[in-house]
Amino acid sequence: MIDIHAHLCFPDFEDDREVIIEKCKQELLGVVIGTARYDEALCALKLSKRHAGFLFPTIGLHPTEDFSQVDRIIRLVHDNRESIVGIGEVGMDYHWVKDEIKRKEQAKIFSKFIALAEELEKPLVLHTWDAEEECFNMIKDKPVSAIFHCFNGKRDLAERIIDNGFYISISTQVLFSKNVRKIAKMLPSNRILLETDSPFLAPNKELDKRNYPWNIKLAARKIAELRHASEDEILAHALRNAKKVFNI
Ligand SMILES: [Zn+2]
Repeated sequence: MIDIHAHLCFPDFEDDREVIIEKCKQELLGVVIGTARYDEALCALKLSKRHAGFLFPTIGLHPTEDFSQVDRIIRLVHDNRESIVGIGEVGMDYHWVKDEIKRKEQAKIFSKFIALAEELEKPLVLHTWDAEEECFNMIKDKPVSAIFHCFNGKRDLAERIIDNGFYISISTQVLFSKNVRKIAKMLPSNRILLETDSPFLAPNKELDKRNYPWNIKLAARKIAELRHASEDEILAHALRNAKKVFNI
């Protein structure tokens, strides 16, 4: 089992990060660390050196973050091309960003990362909230590999994403989102990935505000139920796909 997207470097894990990682090691085969900005990327690189072969970093610039970091981040990606397994998270966000000028800026930055993914032959880990179609259109004809992280778009777009050879990552959102359930049901087994987006998307916020990488098991159980499959089967497909797309 590999959680393909968790923010273990978020301040939420500051006090007990190593304890959480040890528990992850008991439950999982690996965690791909998503990063949204420069300082988080530095932490992910350091952490994955300490836990080599278990933690796998990706570096990116989230579309709602401060874009003045972009050159530094691109340099960091180049300098660490041997250690990172992907470029992310990157993409576009029309949910929080309504301003047209800012949206254009997002597209400009995103195209830089698409070119970088092509050059370094690394998969893109995409944040596409309410801009799923726009992100897809920007990559569909490019020779890149891509993962739509926390995908919550339309079903017909999910079909085109799959037909194009990209991946869709189902998060613990599947426990509470009807739309994500629909997507999880129709995904072919060679396109499915599992993630938690920890510390976000906690399965039971009243019990614990944070989410943890081992909760991909809960997502797998739900997906298995929806597809009349076994949990082990779902986990095996997701593991095989994760290894393939991130080359780990
Ligand atoms: Zn994320």
